[in-house]
Amino acid sequence: MRKITADYIYPIDQAPIANGVVIIDKKGKIVGLDKRENYAPKDLEFYDGIIVPGFINTHCHLELSHMKGKVHTGTGLIPFITSVVQQRGASEAAIQEAIAEGEKEMIANGIVAVGDISNVVDTFAQKAQSNLRYYTFVEFFDFLQEENAPAEFEKYKAVYDQLALPTGHHKSCVPHAPYSVSPRLFSAINQVNNQHPSGTVSIHNQETPPENELFLTKTGDFVDFYAGFGISLDNFTADGKPSIYYALQHLDPNQRTLFVHNTLTTVEDIDTAQAWSGHTYWATCPNANLYIENDLPNYQNFLDTNAKVTIGTDSLTSNWELCILSEMKAIAKYQSYVPFATLLQWATLNGAEALGMQKDLGSITVGKTCGLNLLTNLNKQGGIGADTQVQKLA
Ligand SMILES: [Zn+2]
Repeated sequence: MRKITADYIYPIDQAPIANGVVIIDKKGKIVGLDKRENYAPKDLEFYDGIIVPGFINTHCHLELSHMKGKVHTGTGLIPFITSVVQQRGASEAAIQEAIAEGEKEMIANGIVAVGDISNVVDTFAQKAQSNLRYYTFVEFFDFLQEENAPAEFEKYKAVYDQLALPTGHHKSCVPHAPYSVSPRLFSAINQVNNQHPSGTVSIHNQETPPENELFLTKTGDFVDFYAGFGISLDNFTADGKPSIYYALQHLDPNQRTLFVHNTLTTVEDIDTAQAWSGHTYWATCPNANLYIENDLPNYQNFLDTNAKVTIGTDSLTSNWELCILSEMKAIAKYQSYVPFATLLQWATLNGAEALGMQKDLGSITVGKTCGLNLLTNLNKQGGIGADTQVQKLA
């Protein structure tokens, strides 16, 4: 039994406890929350700072870790995607080593669970070791080509079938993005997921202006991008609404849906999605948005709509590190009006709910094995500052 105390415990599902004590058993399970005065000092582990639950990273592509530093920053999404396609190849050893390193980095940074996109099977051996809990999103796309949907479906379904799940892990089939998945492929994906009710489906959403342009007016850089690859959009009709409306038409509202990026998502878009389903979550990956597009979502839109925001790191191809604290720092730096307690909830409990793991993770609650992180060097207001650090305690 460890009795750990700090200046504050932030359980997340209740108010912060000043001079609180969190008691955990040998396996890290929370067995009690209490106040310091009820214990003899010799029985306590003392820390300066605050204790928060383990972080949940709701959007990662661990299989792209070997491309760290290879793709330029600030180019915009379309040149970024082109670069990834061109530079993805590497030796099996290099890919596996980078995956193991990426996972190690996440653990050291206090992450306990990951929503991870897989196009291929590269991460499956690492995931089998169960050092972290994974929700693997096997990702499908056919570049809006209905006639290719059956073959593309079979290709990625074979990846999905190969993933064996350790206890506490999950998997689902997911569409890549509105601009890359035909209605026929959406429907094939839904048929697989229907066999597992109450799963999570993620989709990249409204990450770059040309994405909305394609769906509003069938113009812009995606039209040129597809033409450059010899892909015809003759059968695609723009329906005059932002891209998320196309996704809502074809996603299943009975599943939890995790919209990822949402850089251009408006209050109206969020309201529409939340009316469409009561289980919508909004993953933000601020450092990846700064890396690729040099832009950020307007977080006020998400506060105004009571949206359940979660935080992701995206991949080491589009980020400098895999660290949820660094993502919180980016938000705190550029949109400092987001309250500290809200930011913590995005990084923990909301993410756990989005991945269906809130039974064990996301809050310091008796019975959970949520992991414990110590945050030190907070700013003068007691929030996240440039020098704030995270240390994994359990
Ligand atoms: Zn992504």
